[in-house]
Amino acid sequence: MKLILLGAPGAGKGTVAKLLTKMDGSVQISTGDILRAAVAAGTELGKQAQAAMKAGDLVSDDLIMGIMGERLKEDDCKKGYLLDGFPRTIPQAEALKTLLADMGEELDMVVDIQVPKEVILDRLTTRRTCEDCGEIYNVKSNPTKEEGKCDKCGGNVVQREDETEEAISNRLDVYNEMTAPLAGFYEKEGSLISVDATSSDAVIDAIKAKLG
Ligand code: AMP
Repeated sequence: MKLILLGAPGAGKGTVAKLLTKMDGSVQISTGDILRAAVAAGTELGKQAQAAMKAGDLVSDDLIMGIMGERLKEDDCKKGYLLDGFPRTIPQAEALKTLLADMGEELDMVVDIQVPKEVILDRLTTRRTCEDCGEIYNVKSNPTKEEGKCDKCGGNVVQREDETEEAISNRLDVYNEMTAPLAGFYEKEGSLISVDATSSDAVIDAIKAKLG
């Protein structure tokens, strides 16, 4: 399947994407993960993105479209893709539309995952991430077996640099201002489903029902 997952930081896009990949072999593409890997590796891309990411601001549309223009043409996208954290601005959505048209592809749907702000704030402040493999934990609901060590790969599990209270608050403001309008954009295109859900299983069920 080919989906866009919309939703504020902490809405559960990544969790839903991971569950969906197991259904039909679609690949999860997270621009946040791609950028974090670039920062960790110290590449030119990472250097350009680092300051904006740390503050919880968006990196430039040009940089993102450069990444995605290449990424969507890779072989593993043939079985489908779940776009997690992209597009995040109207210009990115417009550019994606052109890119897909050029590739002769169409999205199945755009899923807007809506979660109350209190739940999001609680999740983001308690979320922890493996520096090596990106596995997500939560100090309250899903802690690592050994403190600070990833159950899967043994890497260091830390709080993301942009998960300080200040950066979280900025990320939510940026989401409301720059990304939330995408729901209206895709509604006009007729491809949007909105799911009011704090449970990933409920989101998966709504997607399955729509796919038929
Ligand atoms: P995420 O892991 O999706 O929360 O992304 C982490 C950070 O990466 C964001 O706060 C932005 O700084 C940057 N980022 C990720 N995806 C995009 C995008 N599509 N457009 C602009 N910036 C992005």
